[in-house]
Amino acid sequence: MTEQATHASQTQTCETMRALVKARAAAGLELQQRAKPELGEEEILVRVGKASICGTDLHIWNWDEWAARTVPVPLTIGHEWSGEIAQVGARVSHLQSGQRVSGEGHITGSLSHGSLSRMVRAGRRHLDPETRGIGVNLDGAFADYLVLPASNAVPLPESVSDEVGAILDPFGNAVHAVLSFNLVGEDVLITGAGPIGILAAMLARHIGARHVVITDVNPYRLALAGRVADVRPVNVAEESLDAVSQSLGMREGFDIGIEMSGAPQAFAQMTEAMIMGGKIALVGIPSAPQQVDWSQLIFKALSFKCIYGREIFETWYKAIALIESGLPVERVITHRFAAEEYEQAFAQVGAGECGKVILNWL
Ligand SMILES: [Zn+2]
Repeated sequence: MTEQATHASQTQTCETMRALVKARAAAGLELQQRAKPELGEEEILVRVGKASICGTDLHIWNWDEWAARTVPVPLTIGHEWSGEIAQVGARVSHLQSGQRVSGEGHITGSLSHGSLSRMVRAGRRHLDPETRGIGVNLDGAFADYLVLPASNAVPLPESVSDEVGAILDPFGNAVHAVLSFNLVGEDVLITGAGPIGILAAMLARHIGARHVVITDVNPYRLALAGRVADVRPVNVAEESLDAVSQSLGMREGFDIGIEMSGAPQAFAQMTEAMIMGGKIALVGIPSAPQQVDWSQLIFKALSFKCIYGREIFETWYKAIALIESGLPVERVITHRFAAEEYEQAFAQVGAGECGKVILNWL
């Protein structure tokens, strides 16, 4: 480390910043003053401008079984963000202070058993078994400042606003799932109309799917889906999926399924509604082990792909390219709050009466 960098990091430890912290092993979060993070030689320090609340953050707020098992305390949470580079580490030459960035929150490429994992060496960083997530295992982005490996930064072009920059991470999940199969001219069923489900629906239509049907039982989210994307929302508590597909002129079922809800009933409805030989991407995370009628899946000759995160960094490249080709992803953003209003923001997400919710840190 150079003398200058050492000096800079010493100055930083004296400074504090606002951070939304899981301070105790219990429900809730606290907005605290924490030490500004120290910058490593191959890292960047980002002044976070906008962040977005994820379902994962809600699990951490609620301190459910998964969160209690996974999240160390105290921890600054948050992994969906955009901001401006405030400082670059001594060995970072491809990025500069003042640049607008978002970034991949999955930190990969740590040494496991003394070497990089096989998948990282093969260039498949999203399959690294040593993956750690900012805001989940490491301090995250709901703060004035974030430190990130420089190699995880994604510079934002002019065409991507600060708000859209803050939802590139969840949009990336949708991109990864939707681009897993060739769905040009196909009929697509998406179960779960949360923000990622709606983004996936929007994207499926954008790239040439014929019919896109999105299901949920939350009227707010279904109405949002119908408003922002050219899709057929279906409230499965009130309408039969079968009747809807018949009314669309579909005879043999959906060609492609994208499961975004994690709900066992939705998975069962999806497999029932698929065509012989259909393909399904699984994104939604079930809260508990579930019963599956395997014989139905086998006799239908279905294929499955499990989606975790984004392909690093091909998904980021495609996500930005798709936005530049006219995909209006900003339409899923429905609420904005100042960082200090985090309790209201989380209440909004908890009630499910929203699309994406932005926290403003500037
Ligand atoms: Zn997320």
